Amino acid sequence: MTIENLLFFAKGHIHSDHAKILLAENLSKNPLELLNCLNEEVPQDIVELYKKEVLALEAGQPLQYVIGNVNFYGNHFLVDKNVLIPRFETEELVENTINYIKEHFTEPVDIIDLGCGSGVIGLTLEQKLSPKSVDLIDISPQALTVCHQNCGLLNSKATLIESDMFAKVEKKYDVIISNPPYIKTTEDIEPIVKNNEPSLALYAGEDGLDCYRKIIKDLPNHMKDRCLVAFEIGNTQASAIKQLITSTLTNVIVEVKKDLSGRDRMLFIFKNLK
Ligand code: GLN
Repeated sequence: MTIENLLFFAKGHIHSDHAKILLAENLSKNPLELLNCLNEEVPQDIVELYKKEVLALEAGQPLQYVIGNVNFYGNHFLVDKNVLIPRFETEELVENTINYIKEHFTEPVDIIDLGCGSGVIGLTLEQKLSPKSVDLIDISPQALTVCHQNCGLLNSKATLIESDMFAKVEKKYDVIISNPPYIKTTEDIEPIVKNNEPSLALYAGEDGLDCYRKIIKDLPNHMKDRCLVAFEIGNTQASAIKQLITSTLTNVIVEVKKDLSGRDRMLFIFKNLK
């Protein structure tokens, strides 16, 4: 079968943009290149795999799981149904955190990523900053298996710990970062997310704040004297999370930041930094 035949096959099943991205990925080409080589014969094993993947997409699976990897902040990360698919907002959280670390710390930092999932946050910080240490924490052993593979791909020296947030952690850190689950259990979310991504990575109790509560109560034991905490948050949660922080920590500065679409999506705590 040729590239043209396969794109034609996909036409009856999925959006043509997805069809091109998927085929390009399988042939290690750029999607735009495909149209210049429509008559190229595709090896039989790729034909079969492609057809299976087209049907998986048609059945409602997310493209990222079907392809099996995503680009996050310039690196490829493996993803499967055991980990959340990283979102653009999380790249913004990482970008802002990198800038704050560069601004406020001169020595290499100790970093912890709570609820690391595939490891995108902690591993990106490791790539960009050469920190002193990176600890990647998740409650899900299946997620940690994916994270471990990503560590291998990136030659990471990070330490993986199976733990419910800080439960099995003793150290103190310069930088504590998390994109925890923060969706209310009663909230209606897109079916493609609800039906495919791990509910453990999405939901956090009736008000969506359970994980922030869990993290914030333990912050006093894990923040070094000078410390930056960075959270991704739901766009309506800023004031409730601020309250949790001010009732637990004294002498810190809290800053809420908007994402590119103007919604409150990041919260930073500065201890002895500003
Ligand atoms: N830290 C991972 C990410 O940002 C996983 C987050 C989660 O599972 N809630 O993609």
